[in-house]
Amino acid sequence: MGHAGPLTLVGDESAPPYQRPPLSKEHLDTADAEPLPLRGMQFFAEQRIELCTGASATMIDRSGRRVHLSDGRQLPYDSLVIACGATNRSLPVPGSDLEGVHSLRTLADAEAVRAAMAGCDSALVVGAGFIGLEFAAAARKRGLPVTVVEAAARPLGRALSAEMAEHIAEAHRSTGVDLRLGTGVTAFLGDNGRVRGAIGTDGTEYTADLVLVGIGVVPRDELAIQAGLTVDDGIVVDEHLRTSDPDIYAIGDCASFPHPLQGNRIRLESVQNATDQARHVAAAILGREDPGGYRELPWFWSHQGPMKLQIAGLRLPDDRALVLGDPAEGKFSVCSYRGERLVAVESLNRPADHMAARRLLAEGRAPAPERLDDPGFSLKVFARALEPTP
Ligand code: NAP
Repeated sequence: MGHAGPLTLVGDESAPPYQRPPLSKEHLDTADAEPLPLRGMQFFAEQRIELCTGASATMIDRSGRRVHLSDGRQLPYDSLVIACGATNRSLPVPGSDLEGVHSLRTLADAEAVRAAMAGCDSALVVGAGFIGLEFAAAARKRGLPVTVVEAAARPLGRALSAEMAEHIAEAHRSTGVDLRLGTGVTAFLGDNGRVRGAIGTDGTEYTADLVLVGIGVVPRDELAIQAGLTVDDGIVVDEHLRTSDPDIYAIGDCASFPHPLQGNRIRLESVQNATDQARHVAAAILGREDPGGYRELPWFWSHQGPMKLQIAGLRLPDDRALVLGDPAEGKFSVCSYRGERLVAVESLNRPADHMAARRLLAEGRAPAPERLDDPGFSLKVFARALEPTP
């Protein structure tokens, strides 16, 4: 609110902006799911935002302050925000171009995967990350045989504690997912241009007529590189999300920013981060910059069948993990401590823990680790006790 001049949103997909999170969840297990628009078209009209869909930005002319588009147009700017996201990492093995080998990021990808699921006999997933496991849950819900191969020793290894990752692995196995860890594929096999299986790194031959590759992403930094901006695993920005050119900002999956809670430079691939960074930059462009810089608490969620996983904060592999609740009930949280400081809480089917954790972590007011041993200890009750009495 508050910008009176022209505002143009350029995107290379043909659809108006839509929500990506459902694409690997409800969109796959509902036969006739419609994409969820980010905003209705009326919003863009009312806010006088010009939508340029189906056009990609090909060059930033910093001295002329213009962005060149693939359709030949040139758009002038005073402030420019690069929010190009990331692109799926491809698997460089023979057969990866066979029909039936999919990746999933865009609405078009999701439509193709959903159509392929309808006529599929068995699916193979490469990568037990968010995409792979959300797809596996949706495929099992449809009754499809699913094998998942993951290079690391645990699923979601970079995002989760061993305690949570192992529980999630067992939960998928209990629904019939054939989850194989510490392995990958060396080639896809095909018949007449269509995939029929794969060869594993240990020589196993898998049968599958649908393959989903979900092995992570790489930031889309090519525009920034061409423009001579500083890039290092993402477009390097300062605490206000400004690139090395003060009139150009970068936000979301493509931006590498200094995070005060983490103490180092990070790149986050999450909806929360993208939308909170967008708000921060909009305020900065309007001259209402938060002097403290961008410092929102990271949080994530993932729905995998009956598992509602929510994560607040960021953990490192050496953090100490303390379990709250009973994993056997399928409802528990893992609290990660760095020394005496709570840094992250992963909650499975315990939304109250997640909401309390977000408050406590943001305010830096968390229980000492030994408090978690108190019989009946509750994060929600602990957080409520900190509220000032009226
Ligand atoms: P991801 O969550 O980074 O997971 C990729 C997984 O594949 C990692 O466990 C990775 O192990 C593994 N891997 C890498 N190379 C491999 C190989 N050659 N063979 C077998 N496994 C391999 O990425 P993603 O699942 O592809 O998701 C793509 C993007 O969508 C990410 O930005 C993700 O955050 C986002 N997304 C998020 C959600 C959510 O938040 N709920 C849902 C869907 C998608 P290493 O970690 O050891 O490399």
